[in-house]
Amino acid sequence: MTTVAFIGLGNMGGPMAQNLVRAGHQVRVFDLVPELMGTLESQGATASPSASSAADGAQVIISMLPAGKHVLSLYTGSDGLLSVIKAGTLVIDSSTIDAETARSVHQACVEKNVEMLDAPVSGGVAAAAAGTLSFMCGGSASTFEKAKPILAAMGQNIFHAGPDGAGQVAKMCNNMLLAIHMIGTSEALRLGTQNGLDASVLSEIMLASSGKNWSLERYNPYPGVMPTSPASNDYQPGFMVDLMTKDLNLAIDNANAINSPTPLGSAALKMYQNKQAAGDGKKDFSSIIESL
Ligand code: NAD
Repeated sequence: MTTVAFIGLGNMGGPMAQNLVRAGHQVRVFDLVPELMGTLESQGATASPSASSAADGAQVIISMLPAGKHVLSLYTGSDGLLSVIKAGTLVIDSSTIDAETARSVHQACVEKNVEMLDAPVSGGVAAAAAGTLSFMCGGSASTFEKAKPILAAMGQNIFHAGPDGAGQVAKMCNNMLLAIHMIGTSEALRLGTQNGLDASVLSEIMLASSGKNWSLERYNPYPGVMPTSPASNDYQPGFMVDLMTKDLNLAIDNANAINSPTPLGSAALKMYQNKQAAGDGKKDFSSIIESL
């Protein structure tokens, strides 16, 4: 049994913390929203009055926060956790943030003799609840091995992507590709149906042909083709346009900073920004087909 401090109990963090409780760990939780701690408390976790008190004496600290600025301030701010956590503690940040911020938190941890892993996830809220998330980890091989048993309580596929920040790089590459093939799949389905083809028949043909991809196979954006997909349920998320736009911004900012060409990623970002500006940020990201 490990004492784990879990900071950030939102859509993802709440169910992840619950799975740690289920696995028998002693879990201390903190979120700025007290009600979220109440839910976890009723599931066997201990609510803490602050992030620092949750982290004080914990063997492992996990954060699941909205963006890089929240993560930076949690660990390195004036009352940041690095002023209370002891050498030898393991820090795992599973938020999706820019690789540069992740690397600077790694560096701050090194200076305190604290081990850190950036470990963003793929899989969304359903996988967080089912404990089947994929973790993409950046950090040393020994820190990765140390974190694996903890991550295994929350996820199924646990990858060591490489050194500090590599988890965030893998995550942004994956989500940029996801946006591109979702838009490509939407375009193909639009073109086919505007030529009179049935969307289900066309999907079946492409699934057996070279156009096969995850969006088509698991998340068809055309309403009615898959009864359980967001497209068949008024584009309720799922994975929101807002979150896809956030992830594309991380990828394109990074690509611009290092001069890596991403013409399709940039076009995808523009389309998702337009969708957001149209007031559809809370819809599922497959609703991008409506923009075509
Ligand atoms: P969320 O907004 O539901 O949850 C974030 C939580 O962090 C909130 O409850 C908020 O109150 C809390 N918080 C913010 N600052 C805090 C602080 N200083 N101390 C304590 N708590 C604080 O977001 P989410 O959907 O759970 O996503 C979390 C992260 O996971 C994001 O980085 C997101 O990009 C990533 N992610 C989300 C999904 C998804 O489908 N929702 C999938 C993969 C990755």
